[in-house]
Amino acid sequence: MAFSGALTLTDLNDFITPSQACIKPVEQSNPAPVHDPGAASTQIQVDSSGSYYEVSPIGRTEANAKKKLQTAEISLNDCLACSGCITSAESVLITLQSHTEVLNFLSSNPAPSSPTHKIPVLSIAPQSLASLAASLSSSSARPVSLTQVLRRVRAFATRVLGFEHVFDTTFARHVALREHAREFAERRAGKDGAGKLPMLASACPGWVCYAEKTHAEMLPFISAAKSPQQVMGTLVKEWMGAKWGKAPDQVYHVTVMPCYDKKLEASRQDFYNDVYATRDVDCVITTGELDLLMREKDWDLSEPVAGELDPPASSPSDVTALPELLVHPGSSSGSYLHSLIASFIASSPVPLIHTVRTVRNADYEEHTVVDEAGTPVFRGARCYGFRNLQNVVRKVGRDAGVQVGRGAAGRVAALRRARKADAGGEERGYNYVEVMACPGGCVNGGGQLRPTAGAEKSVDAEGFARDWAESGVRVEEDGLQIQAPSAKWGDKEWTKKVEETYWRALPTPPPTPTPEEREIERAEEEKRRWADRLAVEVLYEMCRPGESPPHDGTWDVQMDERAETTRRKLFRTQYRAVESEVVGLAVKW
Ligand code: SF4
Repeated sequence: MAFSGALTLTDLNDFITPSQACIKPVEQSNPAPVHDPGAASTQIQVDSSGSYYEVSPIGRTEANAKKKLQTAEISLNDCLACSGCITSAESVLITLQSHTEVLNFLSSNPAPSSPTHKIPVLSIAPQSLASLAASLSSSSARPVSLTQVLRRVRAFATRVLGFEHVFDTTFARHVALREHAREFAERRAGKDGAGKLPMLASACPGWVCYAEKTHAEMLPFISAAKSPQQVMGTLVKEWMGAKWGKAPDQVYHVTVMPCYDKKLEASRQDFYNDVYATRDVDCVITTGELDLLMREKDWDLSEPVAGELDPPASSPSDVTALPELLVHPGSSSGSYLHSLIASFIASSPVPLIHTVRTVRNADYEEHTVVDEAGTPVFRGARCYGFRNLQNVVRKVGRDAGVQVGRGAAGRVAALRRARKADAGGEERGYNYVEVMACPGGCVNGGGQLRPTAGAEKSVDAEGFARDWAESGVRVEEDGLQIQAPSAKWGDKEWTKKVEETYWRALPTPPPTPTPEEREIERAEEEKRRWADRLAVEVLYEMCRPGESPPHDGTWDVQMDERAETTRRKLFRTQYRAVESEVVGLAVKW
């Protein structure tokens, strides 16, 4: 199982810190030959300074009597490829969040006529659809679109497994992006309790859990807006449930996500409904687990299903219908930065210009919006992968005057720099950063399908030298190539292919569109207007303000205080630092 090693949950008391559990203290490069099969071939001694020595009890000579051992180094990359620091409580959660658990639930769910029947609902992320589509396209002459895959998965989930509803999560993302932009505007306006700038994206649990565990000083910067998965949970359990006449605990909600980290996100205490004793998302399975489920049930995803090429509906067909596969231009990890920039430019009374600069690699870009005089009015960054992320965390801390993993001297220096910047002495840093833990973003999540061949032999997706076999990854030599099907992240070529597949449906209007292309554009526009209208309807139906929604209302509409409090509760969350429970001095070797 491939996890972000930085992951943990809050309120768990058995987290194993790396100090004792993960550090490999010594490296034995040339083990001595064993003369007696029953005897130990070597002994390790530790002296008073804590140095380790290898002592051979067999054939001892002056030369080999005592050999000082080198301390092995564990890089962050080793940690990220290891599930060793998952706690026992988390392991139980993961067991409860598996495709077997989904099958167990479905087989024990009473018939719909029974009062204890739960409505099973499946929601799938667009990145998971892209992974499945890329995998199918690599083995077939004709490319398969996300819409086709969604409809084939829907056919499988409803006909074979017995799910009653299957959605993609793009409408939930539509809502999440709007709440996110609203939060940014509040922070920028300096609203009380709104949090600090720069705002950092919160949709990636890999990064958020890392911050909770190792960079608590970053928490006030992280957006409180719920991720699309959790917004989908709220919509399914609270909004749709009410329309079906069901309480939240009478609906069973499964999501298909590109990474294991989403399982931990769904298990957070903040997403547990105490009144009904249920979670917004009951079970999360990865793209790979869905693929496994289909194989186990002999479902061939490469086979077309009836109606898979029909255009998506552009208006509701029933009370809980959602717009299908909404496109949010920008990044394949949710387009957080782009949607913010788009809303910023749209609300500006003067024309603005948006420019992009690659900083180190494709995973770290700076975006600047300037006015006509060339004065920056917005500075943002898109930063993927832990290597870039560490740099950004340091930069944000420096610019904001926050100590990031340094001593008091570092804090004082950072505060000085921040004061100087406040006084106009230097340019302040970013206003916003779209942060994602996986190199390449969510299309390259740890739970996605892997290429069957062509993985680079010794370098991983972040450019670190890797010995796959040593890292516990199954490898198969195939001529000069190496296959690493269970590596945490795919190789760059494969990630690029999934990314291309993700964007294949993007309606980029050609200069002279054909009538058919114009029709597709018109339908996309109509679908988008439906999504905007529906988002406001959802807001009013769930928050129940005293007044009716304005005719041309947007998500930004200001409701009465009680309704605004409900909005916060439904569409935002909170973070807290995770305290280490292991005291370094108590570590025993
Ligand atoms: Fe999951 Fe990776 Fe996306 Fe983060 S970037 S949400 S860890 S797939």
